[in-house]
Amino acid sequence: MSVNITAYQSIVSELSAENVTLVAVSKTKPAQDIQEMYAMGQRDFGENYVQELVEKQAALPQDIRWHFIGHLQSNKVKYIAPFVHLIHGVDSAKLLQEINKQALKNNRVIDCLLQVYIAQEETKFGLDAAELAAIKTTLPELSNVRICGLMGMASLTENKQIIENEFLSLKKIFDAFNQWPVGIRAEKTILSMGMSSDYQLAVACGSNMVRIGSLLFGARNYSTN
Ligand SMILES: *Cc1c(COP(=O)(O)O)cnc(C)c1O
Repeated sequence: MSVNITAYQSIVSELSAENVTLVAVSKTKPAQDIQEMYAMGQRDFGENYVQELVEKQAALPQDIRWHFIGHLQSNKVKYIAPFVHLIHGVDSAKLLQEINKQALKNNRVIDCLLQVYIAQEETKFGLDAAELAAIKTTLPELSNVRICGLMGMASLTENKQIIENEFLSLKKIFDAFNQWPVGIRAEKTILSMGMSSDYQLAVACGSNMVRIGSLLFGARNYSTN
């Protein structure tokens, strides 16, 4: 039940050769595991649950870059606004407005990714093309968020062809996003896609940030968490 050092080292060298950022997804894992990976040089960690993230942030080294990758509720933004490095799952205008408001209160600009709906299943969160276009029009009013790119999750399936099609559709939307004027988006942009089971395919499809949990930390056991 601890860090898979061999897997970590090989994934890091594989990704750095491709200029892809690794977010180590540490949700449900003890602070000790994060500390162990931190000691090997890892600085980007991803969490899904607000309370768990707040506790870990307080207990662990202050130079960790915390990525919030879960589904964020508007009423919880205030807890992570003081320190969060990047919020991956922005999936509504209302949430973005709340992030802007809390960022303002903390006198900072919070980096965000817009989550795009690419999966065939109904269970995944994200914006469709019309919602993305609607959010784009609100961006000039939001001074304290910076839109750094897009995030997406493929369907939960063994079928690589389905996953590849979904990744390629997100890459296409990302290419269009990169045509947005700098000013309503960051200059250097991020495409966050790929997890333990599909990160290599995601990178082949144009991802430059992957979120990997179980390959690094072992399988999660929610029942004993
Ligand atoms: C849990 C999670 C991951 C990591 O999943 P693994 O399959 O363990 O690599 C990546 N992204 C999101 C949004 C997650 O919730």
